[in-house]
Amino acid sequence: MAEPTTEMFDRDAQTMPVEQLRQLQQDRLRALLARVRDASPQHREQLAGVDPQEVTLENLNELPTVAKAQMREYYPLGMLCVDRSEVRRIHATSGTSGRPTIVAYTATDLDILGRANARVLDAAGARAGTFVHNAYGYGLFTGGLGLHQGIEHLGACTVPISGGMTQRQVTLIEDLRPEVLLCTPSYAAAIADAMAKHGIDPADNSLKAGVFGAEPWSEGMRASLEKGLGIKAMDIYGMCELGGPGVAFETPESPGYLFINEDHFLPECIDPATGKPVAEGEVGELVFTTLTKEATPVVRYRTGDLASLQRVEDPNGRTFTTMSRIVGRADDMLIIRGVNVFPSEIEAVLLADDRVSTAYTLVIDERGTMPSMIAVTEPTQDVPSGQVPELLARLQHELKDRLGVSCKVVLAEPGGLPRTEVGKAVRVQHWKAGADSPFPGLLT
Ligand code: ADP
Repeated sequence: MAEPTTEMFDRDAQTMPVEQLRQLQQDRLRALLARVRDASPQHREQLAGVDPQEVTLENLNELPTVAKAQMREYYPLGMLCVDRSEVRRIHATSGTSGRPTIVAYTATDLDILGRANARVLDAAGARAGTFVHNAYGYGLFTGGLGLHQGIEHLGACTVPISGGMTQRQVTLIEDLRPEVLLCTPSYAAAIADAMAKHGIDPADNSLKAGVFGAEPWSEGMRASLEKGLGIKAMDIYGMCELGGPGVAFETPESPGYLFINEDHFLPECIDPATGKPVAEGEVGELVFTTLTKEATPVVRYRTGDLASLQRVEDPNGRTFTTMSRIVGRADDMLIIRGVNVFPSEIEAVLLADDRVSTAYTLVIDERGTMPSMIAVTEPTQDVPSGQVPELLARLQHELKDRLGVSCKVVLAEPGGLPRTEVGKAVRVQHWKAGADSPFPGLLT
């Protein structure tokens, strides 16, 4: 596999001088607003009275935003800005929390999806001829087919295995010797566990890089995946409403900073309470405008995701601004005895100790008058049972220290917890009064 620094896919776009980039964004923004203002019921409502020629990158934050809940009202195709005859593909959100949001793609949209994801894969070291094992779910979910589009655009080779049947995944990795693995971080952990069970040494497998996203994951998880799979693990960010994966990505040289494909996705970062922009480097809610999307573009889409924006020096010359890794989702935040807790903070504490496996669930015990937290996890195979009491005490102490509120820790047998094979890992379970224990035998 080539070194990521030797060449760069789409170099001209990715290394454009910032001033030129800003001009391109400005031009694309005005063209977008002019195109969509009267093109769909959703955009007509959002952009009533807006003169596209008056909008600049500086005053864009005065336009109304659109949020997921509003988009659902326009189900199925009330956001569509082109004639149905131009639509080449449909994707949708999982819709677990209500009506799904449908996104549509023209031929140009599919080309841009491919280009954006080809940049991600190129940054991870893939080239024409690299075998890429794509274990993101295929289907309406954007992850599988979105990255598939990127692999084809780059001219690399796809192993389109989708999620599930972990044993078969391990066998195919052994047999086809792919260099890049694509899946959710929780599923990468399940693959690493399955390889360990079969005695496959991480140093001997063919994988060199993994591109993991679609759900939050901590630095502890990164360290576990890098060790367990013998790879460099990189983050990728995206979402269905913006067209899928490939909105932003890490490179091996930029851990913690994800380059935003800014020529297609215009980012803003706002205070979720006031809607006002926050300063560079400060955490706020990410808001995106899809500058080039034709079929279902969004103007100022509120993602609910919390992160910061900052321009950093890239040794490879990329000029795009970066976002930090996702700190949390505004609506994932738990309030436990008056304290705000993000589930990702719990993962960060648990996985900082390499005696703990990557499988864990946070149970919110809501049976009493005040909710309490229980982290259910398991030790790795090689932790002597004599060390368990000290391990438990240490984890509970660290959690209290980090969160400011207690979190009990309960350990299952090594390998005893279920692994998510398809879709996103469900890390939080609410245990209501009268309901069965989510972990019978462990929690009563
Ligand atoms: P949904 O889950 O709403 O059906 P998506 O599958 O498009 O739709 O999920 C998008 C969401 O997944 C993002 O808004 C974000 O919360 C989360 N997500 C995606 N990539 C990452 C990532 N790299 N880190 C953390 N969270 C992510």
